[in-house]
Amino acid sequence: MNKNQVTLCSACLLGTPCAYDGKPRTNEKVISLSKKEMLIPVCPEVLANLLTPRVPAEIYHAGGIDIINGKAHVYTKEREDVTLPFLRGAYRVLGIARSIESVRFIGKSRSPSCGVGQIYDGTFTKTLRDGDGVTSALLRSKGLTVLTEENI
Ligand code: SF4
Repeated sequence: MNKNQVTLCSACLLGTPCAYDGKPRTNEKVISLSKKEMLIPVCPEVLANLLTPRVPAEIYHAGGIDIINGKAHVYTKEREDVTLPFLRGAYRVLGIARSIESVRFIGKSRSPSCGVGQIYDGTFTKTLRDGDGVTSALLRSKGLTVLTEENI
């Protein structure tokens, strides 16, 4: 198999119960794709040593690229600043991508780590704004193709 075709994928989409509420976000399209090509599950928030379950977090009025550039913060719903763990998780996923020469990531839509194109705005009111999650923004900035389960 061509190693360049290995795709990283949000672990929750493949059935790992690693979302903030301790549940998976299993997606049948992703499961189906995993039977045809190699999908490597990664969860940046678990890789950052955050506990599961955990208090939900959102990027505050910014996108993931602003976190990468040190211009914004990620806060939990209890107002704890979790910017550094979110960055740590993103860089650990980037390290995995580089080690296996992966050039594609399928992320869970709207997640503050894995979302692509749209994320919640930091008010915990289900309000969407344009932008990527922190991990997706980092991977995109390094040249990977980033998608969600909604556009594979
Ligand atoms: Fe982990 Fe990303 Fe799924 Fe959140 S969306 S549980 S960070 S894999």
